[in-house]
Amino acid sequence: MRLLIVEDESKTAALLSESLMKAGFEVAYAGDGQSGLKQALNGSFDVLVCDIMLPHLDGLSFVRELRRQGRATPVIMLSARGEVEQRVEGLDAGADDYLPKPFATSELLARVRSLLRRNSLKKPVLLSAGDLNFDPVTRETRRAGRRVELSSREALLLECLLKAEGAVVSRRDIISAVWEYDFDPGTNLVGVYVRRLRDKIDRDFTPHLIQTVRGLGYALRETP
Ligand code: CA
Repeated sequence: MRLLIVEDESKTAALLSESLMKAGFEVAYAGDGQSGLKQALNGSFDVLVCDIMLPHLDGLSFVRELRRQGRATPVIMLSARGEVEQRVEGLDAGADDYLPKPFATSELLARVRSLLRRNSLKKPVLLSAGDLNFDPVTRETRRAGRRVELSSREALLLECLLKAEGAVVSRRDIISAVWEYDFDPGTNLVGVYVRRLRDKIDRDFTPHLIQTVRGLGYALRETP
């Protein structure tokens, strides 16, 4: 898990990094809002911890800019006592949580963990069968941990077979899922694509997952 701390008070930042690293996080650090934003936009972080009062670019503008650029990375804002209004503003600007200073690092850790949990619930579920995994959003496909490159039609075909969870899918249902035709064009389109998909996900692996069910269609399931 990677975490970025944007905080100008070097003592606080050092203390934070130390306990976060002890808790197993990989920690990056920025001492002002501008360089924090640059790092947040260029790097891939699981959580951002950001102070409100910062040189160059304050914490509120930091979050606003981050969200404006389409980044959904969870943000915890740190605010000094008496900055209640700013805390509200922080949440309005797109922060996910805030923590008033001074705080116990154990509390920050608890908030970070809770944010990560919330965030992981939002992640799409992988479709899988045996050692084959498919991400319907990114279309990333892996068999036995090896990455397999699929064309978009091949990916749609795989998705349609995986969604059936081992049940037989008819040619007609495949045609409608992959080509969005509501009729059977009568060509061997499906057969051609099934062969291509087999070449990529089955040929070099055992057991073979795609099965032809004569007269009915195709099924993707793990049979020993
Ligand atoms: Ca500060």
